Amino acid sequence: MKFQRVLVANRGEIAVRIIRSLRQLGLESVAIYARDDQHSYHVKLADYAVCLPESGAQSPYLHIPTVCGAMRASKAQAVHPGYGFLSENHAFAEAVQEMGAVFIGPSVQALRQMGDKIEAKTLVRAQGIATVPGELCELTSVAQVKEVAQVIGFPVIIKAAAGGGGRGMRIVTEEKDLATAYEVCRREAQSYFGNPAVFCERYIQNPRHIEVQVLRDTHGNGVHLFERDCSIQRRNQKLLEEAPSRYLSPEQRAELGARAVKIAEAVDYCGAGTVEFICESPDHAYFMEMNTRIQVEHPVTEMITGIDLIEAQIRIAQGEPLAFSQEDLCVQGHAIEVRINAEDPDQGFIPTSGTVGALQLPGGPFVRTDTHLYSGYILPTRYDSMLAKVLAWGPTRQAAISCLLRALQELRIEGVTTTARFHERLLQHPVFQSADFTTNFLQQYAKDFEPEIYALESDEAAAIGLYSQL
Ligand code: ADP
Ligand code: ADP
Ligand code: MG
Repeated sequence: MKFQRVLVANRGEIAVRIIRSLRQLGLESVAIYARDDQHSYHVKLADYAVCLPESGAQSPYLHIPTVCGAMRASKAQAVHPGYGFLSENHAFAEAVQEMGAVFIGPSVQALRQMGDKIEAKTLVRAQGIATVPGELCELTSVAQVKEVAQVIGFPVIIKAAAGGGGRGMRIVTEEKDLATAYEVCRREAQSYFGNPAVFCERYIQNPRHIEVQVLRDTHGNGVHLFERDCSIQRRNQKLLEEAPSRYLSPEQRAELGARAVKIAEAVDYCGAGTVEFICESPDHAYFMEMNTRIQVEHPVTEMITGIDLIEAQIRIAQGEPLAFSQEDLCVQGHAIEVRINAEDPDQGFIPTSGTVGALQLPGGPFVRTDTHLYSGYILPTRYDSMLAKVLAWGPTRQAAISCLLRALQELRIEGVTTTARFHERLLQHPVFQSADFTTNFLQQYAKDFEPEIYALESDEAAAIGLYSQL
């Protein structure tokens, strides 16, 4: 079925990104927006826009009847959910199907299976693929948590089964902290994800986060588009992503890719998906979870493969077979992405706000900036803090680093404190440059990222007249 009009059930940079691919494919786009987003760029860019009424405390972007109402009103034949919001919500996909429209993503069944981390791990284990060691059951009492943790051995991590976005997890190193961690996790799981289920697995120390991008069509053809290394994180949230990973040999890359395709096949996956692994060593990669949607960091893969992943998602949803096979795909050069967030790195990454004043986005060869910002844009405060993604490509990792550094030096977002300067320091850090880092990098080298405070020798201070103020 060829679509004519597609509704984009998201906001911010990803809504802009999706509208761009729709336009290139000659399809009409429908934006949806909450009242506080009426001046947002995705609304200006789309062919049509539907204003969503508020629905109590919940964001209207998360309210299924409201979004389905916008589908009906705009006569869109399909919906692209982006990431976050309703993108992994099987009830939403089902409601869309019941309306006779197409959800651009996998089946309701695959969303359900992979949306629950306990069920996903059980399914993957049944394929003979290693998952993070742990008990695959929901924990329902403190006594049970203690029992399970003793079997696994400390440290352990308690996680929300429905979790995402790096939230709803606690590392526990000693038995005395188990009860509190369990209670806190359950509460967070309920309030963030509407599902209190938590489970426990081994906490892998000093690991790498390596994920594999897969695409699978409705005719049973599946490919992987290599890996992304997302080990640079803060509080389990990704800050920088790159591809390929220096950690893997070509053989390990092919092996991990094949494993990801096999996992996708096991749930008869269709569309774009990401299989996340946590690696204790290059030969010990454990399945962690599958994200059944487009990922924030998908442009990294687009840059090294030349494949437009959003276009691929749309074509697959239209029933088209993949236009390429595994043999057609290869890794070209190196790409790195940094997330520019409205946060103050000098104050513990607290959220910032404001109105964008002068805006200078970097350009030049091999640079890509995905953003919804424009000069004069007032940041709404209730959404994700990500403002932009800046990427660079290079024939080598070092060339990509130099290019991205140059791009960040050109970037100016006046009026809002962002993480851009932090990323400049990150890219120049010798350990980052050596590519020998783990997910603990930032904790380990926190001192190197502290605010720059210039300590003056007293005679220097006197020389520049500081004392005359006293
Ligand atoms: P990615 O996996 O693409 O790197 P993130 O984990 O950074 O993405 O999440 C992208 C966005 O989606 C964030 O706004 C995050 O809060 C949101 N998100 C991810 N998973 C969930 C979930 N299970 N429930 C609600 N929001 C989620
Ligand atoms: P989310 O759904 O929020 O993305 P994930 O299960 O993918 O949650 O985990 C997010 C991050 O948390 C990982 O990239 C990793 O840094 C850390 N993490 C999660 N589970 C483990 C584990 N068992 N051992 C070590 N680190 C972990
Ligand atoms: Mg994850």
